[in-house]
Amino acid sequence: MIIRKPIFNFIGGEWKQPETGNYIDDIDPATGNSLTQIPRSGEQDVENAVQSASRAFSQWSQTPINERADFLEAVADKIESASRDFAMLESLDTGKPVDLALRLDIPRAVSNFRFFAQAVRQTSTAFHEMHGAINYTLRQPVGVAALITPWNLPLYLLSWKVAPALAMGNTVVAKPSEMTPMTADLLAHVFEELGAPKGIFNLIHGYGHEAGQALVAHPLVGLVSFTGGTATGEKVAATAAPKFKKLSLELGGKNPTLVFADRFTADTVQGVARGSFLNQGQICLCGSRILIEQSIHDKFVDDLAREIKSWKIGPPQTEGTRFGSLVSADHLKKIESYVKLAVDDGGKIVTGGVRPKLPAPYDKGSFFEPTIIKGLPSSCRAATEEIFGPVITVHPFRDENEAIRLANEVRYGLSASVWTSDLNRAHRVSRKLEAGTVWVNTWLLRDLRVPFGGMKDSGVGREGGEHSLEFFSELKNVCVRLEEGDLK
Ligand code: NAP
Repeated sequence: MIIRKPIFNFIGGEWKQPETGNYIDDIDPATGNSLTQIPRSGEQDVENAVQSASRAFSQWSQTPINERADFLEAVADKIESASRDFAMLESLDTGKPVDLALRLDIPRAVSNFRFFAQAVRQTSTAFHEMHGAINYTLRQPVGVAALITPWNLPLYLLSWKVAPALAMGNTVVAKPSEMTPMTADLLAHVFEELGAPKGIFNLIHGYGHEAGQALVAHPLVGLVSFTGGTATGEKVAATAAPKFKKLSLELGGKNPTLVFADRFTADTVQGVARGSFLNQGQICLCGSRILIEQSIHDKFVDDLAREIKSWKIGPPQTEGTRFGSLVSADHLKKIESYVKLAVDDGGKIVTGGVRPKLPAPYDKGSFFEPTIIKGLPSSCRAATEEIFGPVITVHPFRDENEAIRLANEVRYGLSASVWTSDLNRAHRVSRKLEAGTVWVNTWLLRDLRVPFGGMKDSGVGREGGEHSLEFFSELKNVCVRLEEGDLK
């Protein structure tokens, strides 16, 4: 596997140095060492990328659907055959265990390309007949799509946007997080190797407030698909909305996990641990506000702590590691500040709360033990704000109504998971939870056909299946008069 030094932008099918001449260090968070440098792109780089995407649009938008789908399937095949390289780069950039990247991130990226290739082959649109006329609806590409993605699931989330955008005939300018650029770069190499039409996929590296902001603001960008934090989403919306761009915002979460006494099993303990701490708790869908029925609260928390202590913390690239590094030293500081806040607010640490002791060079890495905090009011900051790391707070509830009230007490509404053996309760509670996705007795199970998105401050719009195809296109109705007749 080769780490390219430095990484370049990919514009119009060519590798371009930044017009700014400036680069940013890409750091391995597990050691603090520099992996490579990436362009610190500015407005001119964005201009070049958008112009290139705009030029490519006229041809790509006219390319037959089956050819576009064939191309996406070829991308999927290439990623799959290079899975180990993709997984290793993802692990180095993010600090996540390479096993996890191999099992989750990369296969899911492959299936994103395959799924949307299949989906676009199967699409149909509406037809409405009326007396003396017919209406048929066309679904047409929007134009240049700006795709902005975060650092936690870099290739997985990028492919979730690139695949439907290209499938529908748009061209793309992507801006990954500056902390995790390497799998996006490898994806651009896949496009190059496959001889993709020049300019359909452009990749710009750099800071969000510079390159990302310029991309969202560009007048030739007709659509913005953004995944990231709620505060950044507000800025993106403030730039894009007044220009009437199509906008999808997948934002932050503070997801409740509801555990009822009737399902206190080993499977539930493991499921809740996984749903809280997978990817070091850095998945927008991770449960971090764990609500547990009072009668089992203490025992469940003990079992959860025992389970999470059995996860092996260590070098992300070593086989068997289940819990790696956080994404950066800054993020580690943010996590530590929340733990301090929780303790100041009266929280008691059940397990974790400290950096683990690891041998060099990992002693310089951004590792933090999975942390469970109890004894906090459910309304305190640690229990209501998105921490986005391996820190959960646990809270007892008396009955179903209280569980629902506590679950809905936050500004976010991304996902929730409910653990119960009572089927009626599962349906009842699911209906009342304010969340875009509710899992029952599971977590992170994915069907690509279902709508995905958040309520409240967790986002605007839905992607997934038909919803992605709708979002990455414009509907146009054509009304045809069939017979001469009365026009009034
Ligand atoms: P972030 O700071 O909001 O950044 C997300 C992306 O936006 C990055 O590429 C960032 O670039 C870019 N960006 C920053 N400022 C921008 C601006 N003014 N204009 C345009 N782009 C800008 O989020 P993050 O810290 O990378 O990711 C963590 C957040 O993502 C969490 O809140 C998590 O819940 C959320 N998330 C949500 C979902 C979902 O599906 N709802 C999925 C995954 C993650 P830089 O990194 O260079 O600043």
